[in-house]
Amino acid sequence: MGEPNPLGSLATFLDAGGGLTSLDRVDQLAQVAFVEAILATPAARAEQAREYLELSIEVESGTADWLPAKHAGERDAIARCLRWQSEILSDDRLGARVRDALPPECAQRWRRELESLRHAYPLDVGDPATAGSWQCQNCGATADAGAAEGLIVRATAENELEVDLAFCAPCVSIAHAVLQGAPTTP
Ligand SMILES: [Zn+2]
Repeated sequence: MGEPNPLGSLATFLDAGGGLTSLDRVDQLAQVAFVEAILATPAARAEQAREYLELSIEVESGTADWLPAKHAGERDAIARCLRWQSEILSDDRLGARVRDALPPECAQRWRRELESLRHAYPLDVGDPATAGSWQCQNCGATADAGAAEGLIVRATAENELEVDLAFCAPCVSIAHAVLQGAPTTP
């Protein structure tokens, strides 16, 4: 199978038995199929799909002044990749087909990436405007009462906390200073 027609759709390519293994820019397709297609909200997907489509049209028509000159020879492949990224975000079933058709090593790498993105980093700097109410576990200062920002440890399946833990900024600073002054053990 030769290089797919740059203007053909991804579904047509796959229907015709096209394989992704030796395709240029397969990693970009994988990233969209594994991350954006799964984690983004429907509205964000639609917006991003429009964006990829617009970029692909710019590349095809030669008006993509953001494209480095050294990539000029890859215009067809880049335009096709952007168009296919847009198609993946517009069609859930197509995203699933791509995930199944990717080279195993590539799919595995992006599956791991998806897993790590799904596990939210548990530390968060909370302020009363965005984090809701919280109370310092150490001194009892509350966000509601106007405490400075606090460090919030979110409860996750990994750390097995039942509730978020919060420490106000002064307590975090004091703890930090104490730790810095503490004798280090070899
Ligand atoms: Zn405190």
